[in-house]
Amino acid sequence: MRRLSPGIFWSRSKSNEASRALVRCNVPISTTNTNTNTNTNTNTNTNTNTNTNTTTHGVHLTEDIYDAVIVGAGMVGAAVAALLGTNRLTSQLRVAVVDVKPQPTRFRPSAVPDLRVSTVTPGSIELLRRAGAWDDIRPPLAASFANMQVWDSSSRGYIRWDARDTGAEQMGIVVENTLLQAALLAAAERNGRNTELIWPAEIRSLRLPYDGPAAGPSDSTGIDSDGGGEGGGFKPPHGLAELVLGNGRVLATRLVVAADGAASRVRQMAGLRTWGWGYGQRGLVATVSTAEPSETAWQRFLPTGPLALLPVRDGYSNVVWSTTPQTATAMEAMSSAAFAAAVNKALRDTSIPNTPGTLTSLLGPMAAFLERLGPFAEFGRNSGSGSGSGSNGFQDPPMVLGWAGGPPRSFPLQMKQAGRYILPRLALVGDAAHAVHPLAGQGVNLGFGDAGVLVEALAGAVETGADPGDARILQEDYEAPRRRAVLTMVAALDGIKRVFEVQDPGFATLRGVGLSLVNATGPVRNGLMQYAMLGQA
Ligand SMILES: Cc1cc2nc3c(=O)[nH]c(=O)nc-3n(C[C@H](O)[C@H](O)[C@H](O)COP(=O)(O)OP(=O)(O)OC[C@H]3O[C@@H](n4cnc5c(N)ncnc54)[C@H](O)[C@@H]3O)c2cc1C
Repeated sequence: MRRLSPGIFWSRSKSNEASRALVRCNVPISTTNTNTNTNTNTNTNTNTNTNTNTTTHGVHLTEDIYDAVIVGAGMVGAAVAALLGTNRLTSQLRVAVVDVKPQPTRFRPSAVPDLRVSTVTPGSIELLRRAGAWDDIRPPLAASFANMQVWDSSSRGYIRWDARDTGAEQMGIVVENTLLQAALLAAAERNGRNTELIWPAEIRSLRLPYDGPAAGPSDSTGIDSDGGGEGGGFKPPHGLAELVLGNGRVLATRLVVAADGAASRVRQMAGLRTWGWGYGQRGLVATVSTAEPSETAWQRFLPTGPLALLPVRDGYSNVVWSTTPQTATAMEAMSSAAFAAAVNKALRDTSIPNTPGTLTSLLGPMAAFLERLGPFAEFGRNSGSGSGSGSNGFQDPPMVLGWAGGPPRSFPLQMKQAGRYILPRLALVGDAAHAVHPLAGQGVNLGFGDAGVLVEALAGAVETGADPGDARILQEDYEAPRRRAVLTMVAALDGIKRVFEVQDPGFATLRGVGLSLVNATGPVRNGLMQYAMLGQA
């Protein structure tokens, strides 16, 4: 990785367009600037970079100045850094990426894939290509899937998608999170001419040039109100944002990108509120071996939550099971064979009971009538494998033989939204802005979508000579489009989850009818698939 000295933010006579655009920005700092830069190793946090500047207020500063500081080098923070590095307009920006964890060891595929994986949509694959990371991720390191089957344990309804119905070769890929992160960070290092990775480093404080109240709607519906506003009300004298690291180092920047996950410390320090709800569930994940490899992403909706079986590399599969905390704890302690038996039962058992309820008497007869109608003939699918017809006929998932590499682990599930995604000189991305239920595997895809739109917004600012931390630009070109996309997805995911939660037999049968109607109606089925495949990138 190379660094310009001084940082491009301060350059006065760079020949390229990006530099000139930045210098035209109206930032209240004088052009007096001396710089010494002793860079021994950018990856071990031992470099010293000192700018001595005189502000228009005559204040002398000794600190590091960046165009953007990304807090969080997870998959989404790494994607922002990599995209900044490959975009023609932003590739010269001076960028720091700060993470509280130590630098991960270089990714080498282990004998058994890691249990934290992500389904990545074709829309996100395109973004990984743009970020220069795809060659390090593509199959066989990732597993692609061409089919997806979603079915209901409480009715006989199902939908089976085949990518070829829309002329595509695949519906997506499943990749280990560690590989996604490593490939994106490697791309950021390769292409970001002026990118510095700083880890392990804690953020001690944040100061934004902002003196309004913590932004965001009422959090009366929220699971928390973590807006502490620890640094939001102070105005740094030079109009930039300031981050103070645990070792006392001060990073001044035009833009802080908070990519530090669902419990974002930066979001809290900025005083931004969140709203949402807990699902009272945990997501249990495990790598498993199966009787035969599969090219299908399977998901069955159980009364307690969805259970997914996803193909991963080298013929293994990954289980993502949303369930009660008690069940998750019990399964984390199970032997490999007992876990396999539990997964196979949950995927295949046709006698999962419904809970009788008041809707039954009203909807039951209507549902029974609808079920007798022609398009629902495929309701007979529970009798065995492949009983449906054509590429959209129901299939049985492969038998799970046991967990591989280690026992399952579980993570809390929640829906959490930041009331605002931006403030002057601050943008939230990924789970720091929105955490969603993993039932459709959209979490990191939404984050990649944020990364793509934010970098386009910053490139637009560079091109027009605007300040990339300007709140109006961030609001119009980043927050507005991303909130629309995210809230649409949140509504869809939450709606799906709640529709499948209802166990009343009458409603369940109607749900089955609805699913089969979708499955039997090619354009509707394919339209849904294209929405899911597009992802949010
Ligand atoms: C069980 C489960 C299954 C899932 N499956 C899928 C799936 O199939 N597909 C999908 O798209 N999504 C899935 N998700 C969601 C997905 O994992 C998240 O959306 C994704 O990890 C968010 O990435 P991120 O980079 O925003 O945050 P994170 O992955 O949480 O990364 C945050 C980074 O910030 C760093 N950090 C934290 N605090 C600080 C601090 N104070 N200072 C500096 N650095 C800090 C961390 O070390 C980390 O590197 C799943 C989630 C769960 C729980």
